[in-house]
Amino acid sequence: MNQKNLKKGVKPSKIRELFEYSNSLKKKVGVENVYDFSIGNPYAPVPQKVKDEIARLAQDDRNHSYTSTAGDPNTREVIASYLNKTYGSKFTANHIFITCGAASALAISFNALLEDGDEVILFVPHFPEYPTILSNLNVKVTLVNPDAITIEPDLDDLKNKITNKTKLVIIDTPNNPSGVLYKSETIKSIAQILEEKQKEYGTSIYMLSDEPYRELIYTGKEYPFITNFYRNSIITYSFSKVLSMPGDRIGYIAINPEADEADDFMYAAVGASRTLGYVCAPTIFQRLIPSIIGMTSDFSLYKENREILVNNLKEIGYTVICGEGAFYLLIKSLEEDANACCERAKKFNLILVPGDSFGLKGYLRISYALPVETVKKSIKAFKDLYDSYGDKK
Ligand code: PLP
Repeated sequence: MNQKNLKKGVKPSKIRELFEYSNSLKKKVGVENVYDFSIGNPYAPVPQKVKDEIARLAQDDRNHSYTSTAGDPNTREVIASYLNKTYGSKFTANHIFITCGAASALAISFNALLEDGDEVILFVPHFPEYPTILSNLNVKVTLVNPDAITIEPDLDDLKNKITNKTKLVIIDTPNNPSGVLYKSETIKSIAQILEEKQKEYGTSIYMLSDEPYRELIYTGKEYPFITNFYRNSIITYSFSKVLSMPGDRIGYIAINPEADEADDFMYAAVGASRTLGYVCAPTIFQRLIPSIIGMTSDFSLYKENREILVNNLKEIGYTVICGEGAFYLLIKSLEEDANACCERAKKFNLILVPGDSFGLKGYLRISYALPVETVKKSIKAFKDLYDSYGDKK
């Protein structure tokens, strides 16, 4: 694309590009013959109660009005109480800001918090939109390597990369793209490192926990909720994945009331949202929250897909990294350049995302939010891709 008169460097993501490619391929060869593991578009059914409530709320004209910028006061109160009851936190309505999904929660938080010259730490592999949203700000992004075995952050690397300019560290668990659920001990260790560095530099370092997959855990493990580990903490949450409603654009920011500048942050978030052109989150979906908070879609379909893929891909010969949650897993690329492997996979109508999009070279991401039948049928394509490399793997 020749962006002669447009802003340079602004382009659709690789995931979106592959998603569009897959849609055009489906038109050519038929939906049933394309194995699109690209985008994280939930496939589990939307709970009937959610649909009924939306239909009911839509009948009331007042639910089509603006709300306060930070959201409907009653809904903010409900979110705070729900979090406090579930995780033992101490939020009030004043610490909750309702947003258009996690993406806008991230953009508003970054703009509220970061000033020119600040540094932000991302753990590889990371959600591609973090550096993309941050690229609008004059900040430095520093990448911390993963531990080669657990794919959790390498804590020594973290220690070495924090400076007196580090303002923000982002965690994402269960992780997109690996599905890895960070152990409580890992979060405890990260918190300890940040506490020590705050003391050493006399600064505030925030830990932002981006958690759209908080309830998507297949092993029954408890979620390590950030405010139980670290004071200067911010949460970005979304109903997109857990209720299969990403198109409805609803989520929230929650700041730990015990954080250094919790009240100032909320004030800055209102201002930041203005500069970004947000007015308020869609009112119908804000007012939906009190009746559905805590509810999730039925994730049994993802659990089944996960097992089919892990078992079959390992049997074929793939190296698989599969965490305990989200609906993603990673496979090792069959050649050094995962982009080339992604291109070759297209020949088998198999759409996989190169790990490069997540800062991780040599891997491909599989998003398994798909019908079970599609996943079962895709195994032959994975085998054909594997065999096509012969001895060159
Ligand atoms: N954060 C992570 C880690 C994600 O994977 C996604 C979506 O894929 C988002 C944020 C954005 O989610 P939303 O649809 O709520 O904007």
